[in-house]
Amino acid sequence: TLTLRNIAKTFPGGTTALRPTDLEIAKGEILSLLGPSGCGKSTLLRIIAGLETPDPGASIIFDGEDVTQQSVERRKIGMVFQSYALFPNMSVRGNIGYGLKMQKLPKAEIAARVAEVIDLCRLGHYADRAITALSGGQRQRVALARAMAPRPRVLLLDEPLSALDAALRGQLRDELALLLRQFGITAIFVTHDQDEAMAIADRVAVMSQGAVAQIGTPEALYRNPATSFVARFVGDAM
Ligand code: ATP
Ligand code: MG
Repeated sequence: TLTLRNIAKTFPGGTTALRPTDLEIAKGEILSLLGPSGCGKSTLLRIIAGLETPDPGASIIFDGEDVTQQSVERRKIGMVFQSYALFPNMSVRGNIGYGLKMQKLPKAEIAARVAEVIDLCRLGHYADRAITALSGGQRQRVALARAMAPRPRVLLLDEPLSALDAALRGQLRDELALLLRQFGITAIFVTHDQDEAMAIADRVAVMSQGAVAQIGTPEALYRNPATSFVARFVGDAM
C-alpha cells in the first residue's frame, strides 16, 4: 500500500500546484488521476517519485516504510512520460538495461530482466534496433519496459499514450491495462482523457485546481458525481 498524507506544493514563484492531499493506493491497484491541464497531476506524480519536494508536513509511506526523505533511487519507483525520454541512438536492449547497469546489478541478472520485459512488452522483434528506427507506439513500449525492468514498487505513468494517434492509443491502452493486471503491478495513470481513465483504472481520482474533487470507481463517479465539475468531466465517458 502507498499512503500519501498532506501532500501540498506551492512553487517558489507563488503558484499553488497542489492543495493538501491525502490518497491511499492498494497493492496491485490501478489509480487514475484525471483532470484538466494545470490541475496538479504531474506535480503529484513527481512528488511521489521524489523528483519534486513537497511542502513541509507531507508524508509518503510504502508498506509502512516512510520514504518522504529518500532519494529518487531508493524509492524504487518506475516512471513513464509522454515524451518517452529514451536515448535515441542506443538500441532497445541498451535503453532497457541502462538503469540496471547504473544499479550495478550482475551482468547475468541484467540480461535476464531485460529479456523478461522485452518479452512482456512484446518487443522481441525490435530488441537490437535503434530507437530512431521505431514507431511512436514501439517507443512507448520501450519506455514501459525500461520502467518495469527494475521491478518498481509502483509504476507512475504520466500521459504515456498522449503522443500516439487515436487508433494506436486505444490498442496500447488495452494492452497496458492487461499487462498491469496480469502482473499485479501497482500503478498511477495520469490522463486528461476520461475514456482512458475509465477504461484502465480500478479507481479514478478527479482533480481540479490542485485538489482531488472526488475519488471512486468509474461506475460510482459516473452514477454519483459529487460536484458539477465531476459530472461534466466524467459525464460523457461511459
Ligand atoms: P497537464 O495536463 O497540462 O500536464 P498537470 O495537471 O500535470 O497539467 P502540473 O504540471 O502539475 O499540471 O502543474 C500544476 C500547476 O503548477 C500549474 O499551474 C503549473 O503552471 C504549475 N507548475 C508546475 N511546475 C512548476 C514549476 N516548476 N514552477 C512553477 N510552477 C509550476
Ligand atoms: Mg502534466
